Amino acid sequence: IECCELHPIAECHVSNGGKSPSGNSFAEDLREWKQVCNRLYIWDYSANFHMYLYPHPTLQAFQPNMQFFVENNVKGVFHEGVDGSGGGGYCTELKAYIMAKLMWNPNCDVARHEMEFLVATYGIAAYKMKEIFDEILASAYRSGRHFFFAMAANHTFTAPDDNILIKCCRLFDEAERMAENDDILKRIKKARMWIRLMEICKLPVGEPGRDVKLDIWEQDCVAFGYDVMGCAPQMNVAELCTFLREKSDTHP
Ligand SMILES: [Zn+2]
Ligand SMILES: [Zn+2]
Repeated sequence: IECCELHPIAECHVSNGGKSPSGNSFAEDLREWKQVCNRLYIWDYSANFHMYLYPHPTLQAFQPNMQFFVENNVKGVFHEGVDGSGGGGYCTELKAYIMAKLMWNPNCDVARHEMEFLVATYGIAAYKMKEIFDEILASAYRSGRHFFFAMAANHTFTAPDDNILIKCCRLFDEAERMAENDDILKRIKKARMWIRLMEICKLPVGEPGRDVKLDIWEQDCVAFGYDVMGCAPQMNVAELCTFLREKSDTHP
């Protein structure tokens, strides 16, 4: 819970403030635990629990982390992602798929599994979707920041900058045009929910059209079956949208 999720745990020792009494980083603690125990269990996080739809690019750290756990006598991992009943989180479907593959084989070919999932889910628009995830990851690296399990947009990297959002919007438009059928189009629109939230958050309260955008976004959340949108603090779709009608940040 203290670890940065953008960078591999064994390499990034920046903590969100949590520290063991020893003052060690989590990675140092785990290496010491290896000396005294041959059966360790990990509870890990892969979403922004503040707001599941905030872009939280953590997939690239899954494999190095899983390999690091295995090297250090970890026998079981509980990987906690988005826990709303309707799903709904940044990149959450792909993350779940890759984590499942890594649980079978920590040395599996992640790049191959990533493309097989994206092609099965988005058809020929897979490469556009991959480009969007890559843009967000690159912007996170460029920000020089670390990503933790619960962060408001204004204390992360204030969300990706406007240029990235505009570029990703264009990529989503292209992906939607490439959709081969209605099922694929619906999946792309679902994957697009996070960026629409970012766009609404960036508009000042009272800006013409903001309330209409928010109403449509709320209806789409309900249509996709979204329920809990974040649990630190817990907020469902209606509570979040009520809050957003008054404020630009999603954090009460
Ligand atoms: Zn980091
Ligand atoms: Zn906060």
